[in-house]
Amino acid sequence: MLNFVAQKKPFMGFFKGSKIYSIVKGKCPVCHTGNMYRTPNAYKLSSTLKMHERCTHCNTKFKIEPSFFYGAMYVSYPVGIIFAGIAFILSFYFFELGRLASFIVIAVFLLILLPVILRVSRNIWINLFFKFDAEKV
Ligand SMILES: [Zn+2]
Repeated sequence: MLNFVAQKKPFMGFFKGSKIYSIVKGKCPVCHTGNMYRTPNAYKLSSTLKMHERCTHCNTKFKIEPSFFYGAMYVSYPVGIIFAGIAFILSFYFFELGRLASFIVIAVFLLILLPVILRVSRNIWINLFFKFDAEKV
């Protein structure tokens, strides 16, 4: 117990080893150590989707076949719906805005979160095909 406190693990460290950790942090789905993206900041728009070809830690090849990440489009739709739903609930029920104002809020919300949605979709997609390997950490 004391050892755990002394380590001062960041919050997400608790999830290390689960797919949630890799999806939220953008880490390699196999080792959860190497970064998948060249820049950690998704809002640096020129390099939002620029990824390392292989994991810098365990050498896993991320793009396992040509056009592999086109499949992330199927994931981005439900991810976008979830974010739009959150924006709708906040604007329509919490702030009691009208339908048109809520629609505008949803559109702006999705536009602002586009880089995050793109990355989360890719992260979910790649985590469907890879499993965490504790030996490669
Ligand atoms: Zn790795």
